[in-house]
Amino acid sequence: MENPYLPYPVRIDDIEVATEDKSLKTFTFVFVNPEDEEKFAYKAGQFAELSIPGVGEIPIGIASSPVEKGFVKFTVFRTGVVTTHLHNMKKGDLMGIRGPLGNWYPWDKLENKNVVIIGGGFAFTTLRSSIVYMLDPANRKKFKNIDVVYGARSPGMLLYREELFDWEKRDDINMHITVDGTDDPDWKYHTGFVPRWWRTTHRLPMKTRMRLCADRPS
Ligand SMILES: Cc1cc2nc3c(=O)[nH]c(=O)nc-3n(C[C@H](O)[C@H](O)[C@H](O)COP(=O)(O)OP(=O)(O)OC[C@H]3O[C@@H](n4cnc5c(N)ncnc54)[C@H](O)[C@@H]3O)c2cc1C
Repeated sequence: MENPYLPYPVRIDDIEVATEDKSLKTFTFVFVNPEDEEKFAYKAGQFAELSIPGVGEIPIGIASSPVEKGFVKFTVFRTGVVTTHLHNMKKGDLMGIRGPLGNWYPWDKLENKNVVIIGGGFAFTTLRSSIVYMLDPANRKKFKNIDVVYGARSPGMLLYREELFDWEKRDDINMHITVDGTDDPDWKYHTGFVPRWWRTTHRLPMKTRMRLCADRPS
């Protein structure tokens, strides 16, 4: 029997600064033992414990999607002991991940429904996992309309910007990107807080299921 308290060894394969204020970084890990990837079978919405020997362990939502193979991704806000240590680590460094843990979004209940995803700030990580899962060619036909409302303080604080703008160009997902405010004269998306913007512009169709995730206000 597998010991659930033993982390799988992983290597940091990539580190990307995710926001303009550098408070968030996205870490891509690969499993040191390739067979561990199969044991770490997760569903969109779950989290894992990132484990740094001699430093500590932190729960972090899984930002990659189960349909993305060969790696797992996490986006981490630098706040205290372990997250600061992780932010200072380098590509190639070894650490551990333990899981997957927690509940996932009820994918069977979302099938044949319109799906509205609403997220704010860096809580968008597991929602990214969900969107990539739903847009996968093997899954897209299981869902009706997909609307995504995602807001951040400013354009530079939006996570996964390139992907957001790619999704915006697709016709099988409706993206509603908004920021609290911006001085950028070229900003072509929305401004205003997510709840206010959504309330004033949308009526939900029947048979719609919503998934919300937001971090604490700063
Ligand atoms: C299910 C789950 C999923 C999560 N997913 C994510 C995610 O996807 N991304 C993400 O970034 N975070 C996520 N978090 C939050 C993340 O787990 C925490 O931010 C992390 O555990 C903090 O660990 P740390 O060791 O860096 O901070 P700690 O050192 O434990 O500090 C925690 C807080 O206390 C403050 N603090 C520490 N010491 C002191 C002191 N002496 N005096 C005053 N204040 C102090 C720190 O500034 C910080 O704000 C998630 C949490 C849960 C439960």
